[in-house]
Amino acid sequence: MTRDKKYKQFREAFNLLAREPLSKHTSFRVGGPADLLALPRDRQTLTALLTAAKKESLPFTIIGGGTNTLVSDKGVRGLVIILKALKSSPRILENNKTKKSEYNKETIYADGGERLSTVCKFAMEQGLSGLEFAAGIPGTLGGAIMMNAGTTAWDISQVIATIDIIDSKTLTYQTIARKDLSFSYRQLCLPDKIIIGAHLTLTKADPAGIKKAFAQSLKSKNTSQPVSLASAGCFFKNPSVHTPAGKLIEEAGLKGKQINGAQISNIHANFIVNTNNARCEDILALKKLVQKTVFEKYRIKLETEVKVTGE
Ligand SMILES: Cc1cc2nc3c(=O)[nH]c(=O)nc-3n(C[C@H](O)[C@H](O)[C@H](O)COP(=O)(O)OP(=O)(O)OC[C@H]3O[C@@H](n4cnc5c(N)ncnc54)[C@H](O)[C@@H]3O)c2cc1C
Repeated sequence: MTRDKKYKQFREAFNLLAREPLSKHTSFRVGGPADLLALPRDRQTLTALLTAAKKESLPFTIIGGGTNTLVSDKGVRGLVIILKALKSSPRILENNKTKKSEYNKETIYADGGERLSTVCKFAMEQGLSGLEFAAGIPGTLGGAIMMNAGTTAWDISQVIATIDIIDSKTLTYQTIARKDLSFSYRQLCLPDKIIIGAHLTLTKADPAGIKKAFAQSLKSKNTSQPVSLASAGCFFKNPSVHTPAGKLIEEAGLKGKQINGAQISNIHANFIVNTNNARCEDILALKKLVQKTVFEKYRIKLETEVKVTGE
């Protein structure tokens, strides 16, 4: 069977979008088309898609909310599965608390495709503390867990109890406990696994205090980051807690530097922003310039935090 025929059959079987521009599905507003695009709404559909892709040897790429993803101008071959529709409302779990240390804790459950902001809002409404750091971080819960999203003070790994995954190789469901997860700075090492849900352990606290901490966190991000422009958040990882990438880039004189529609933000030098129809190649050219300049000046190799995907 020809590739085109195979794709057509696959598209019709699952009612997929064909040649869908990924610029429409990423916060950078950049990226060429996905050959096929799926937005599964439930776990059965996701499993059926993965099973069929495996049978047809069709490569697939996972995107959550697309807020930490830069897609190449040629786009992504094969199937792109966007998980942001895979969600139901977050909920509190009834559990028997046997230890005294558990009395002030509650466990909530949310799906992998749920917006992180929805999970934060739910926790706040329930008077549960632990997610205030995540105020203003866009994207899905699954993406936040894969990226170990956070701030300098806190990250999501600190509230994870277990995660539910589908293993894309064996197509089996598993629950993995926090102690068996290998989190590090802006990373969870979890190859071939798709996060479909997670239990989060939060602490009961004064709702007014939680609201205040959340608002402060949001205000500080809104004033220090270029939130009104298209970006994928911090582009580079901080080399260390004491050496923020943004400071190195700013001191190297690169703030405001522009290549076509891509610019090093004037507000926060670790943000590359899409000011005017930037292409992925413009952003990658800026990335290269930053890495070269910072290395020549400080002998420090900046690693990207943003995930680059596509052909
Ligand atoms: C304005 C702005 C501010 C930001 N501020 C912060 C911040 O303060 N702190 C911070 O850490 N980040 C920040 N970010 C970056 C980004 O929002 C986070 O990394 C976010 O958690 C990514 O979630 P996502 O669903 O959009 O992930 P995506 O970009 O969709 O995916 C990121 C990676 O995770 C994988 N992935 C996504 N979902 C799943 C899943 N369910 N199962 C398996 N793999 C999956 C993808 O394949 C990809 O490799 C910011 C971004 C923007 C645009």
